[in-house]
Amino acid sequence: YQAKQRRSGFEYFSDELNTVAQQQMTLESGLRQAFERKELALAYQPKVDLASGRVVGLEALARWLPRSGGIIWPDQFVPVAEETGLIVPLGRWVLRAACEQWIAWRDAGLNPPPVAVNLSPRQFTDARLIEDIEAILQETGMDAGQLQLEVTESAAMENPARTFDMLDALRQRGLHIYIDDFGTGHSNLGQLKRMPIDALKIDKSFVNDVLRDGDDAEIVNAIIRLAHALNLRVVAEGVETQEQAAFLKQGGCDEIQGYVIAKPLPPDQASALFARQFAPGELEGVPPELE
Ligand code: C2E
Ligand code: MG
Ligand code: MG
Ligand code: MG
Repeated sequence: YQAKQRRSGFEYFSDELNTVAQQQMTLESGLRQAFERKELALAYQPKVDLASGRVVGLEALARWLPRSGGIIWPDQFVPVAEETGLIVPLGRWVLRAACEQWIAWRDAGLNPPPVAVNLSPRQFTDARLIEDIEAILQETGMDAGQLQLEVTESAAMENPARTFDMLDALRQRGLHIYIDDFGTGHSNLGQLKRMPIDALKIDKSFVNDVLRDGDDAEIVNAIIRLAHALNLRVVAEGVETQEQAAFLKQGGCDEIQGYVIAKPLPPDQASALFARQFAPGELEGVPPELE
């Protein structure tokens, strides 16, 4: 008891911890208001099929654009949303906004590719997740087969029996499941074999050094072979150069995503790419997203 009391006293007087706590509280109250103030937005980043050069998917990425200006990145506010439980309404908002956008593109005759939404681990422990998704599909008129969910390995492995049942139900409904940041979580190959999923996304940390670090090159090629052995598609994320794209194509990777194709874009700029065919030998790349 005494140790605990001392520790809380330390926390109280520590400037550094106080600052972190204050920042968290500011973010939390700001995020609560962000919904009604309509400060949240989605940016869409294309995934390109290496064989055809076609845009075969779009990842929806959350952006918080406060009225006061600037941008707050998901790496900052998603952890706060997870800790405070705000991730559940945030996750619902993201799903609904992505489905509404897909329908708007379809209704405009733009022939949108499937759209992917990230789910955080905490959402996966929410018993109402499946009902919420079903309601959003119904209310927006979204075609379930055009909706992909990106889940990290660790989230999927947290309670495998339960999570696998949920993933199985979602796949039976027509959704496609991608394992995000593959290679960075708790790898359990026995579980991976049984996991009801459609694709692996190779984490960008391996892609980043693939031409400089022989170990990363081996890991990337091994993940591609593993995915194909398990009948899964494989996507490389964080592809920034034409040389990385060529390496991935050589290794048999199915799809790439990254600045070499496009940064995450506002809806009107993303839709301008739907009909494009990217020649894998002529990728120019773009600078990172600016503030
Ligand atoms: P993620 O799902 O792995 O998304 C990929 C991240 O890589 C995105 O960062 C994207 O902007 C960035 N990226 C794309 N191309 C490149 C590239 O060529 N090089 C590099 N270095 N980075 C690239 P972002 O948008 O800041 O999102 C970070 C993470 O936040 C996401 O990682 C995802 O885990 C999470 N996140 C984003 N939106 C949502 C959301 O709506 N819900 C939840 N639960 N998490 C989200
Ligand atoms: Mg993702
Ligand atoms: Mg990722
Ligand atoms: Mg990530």
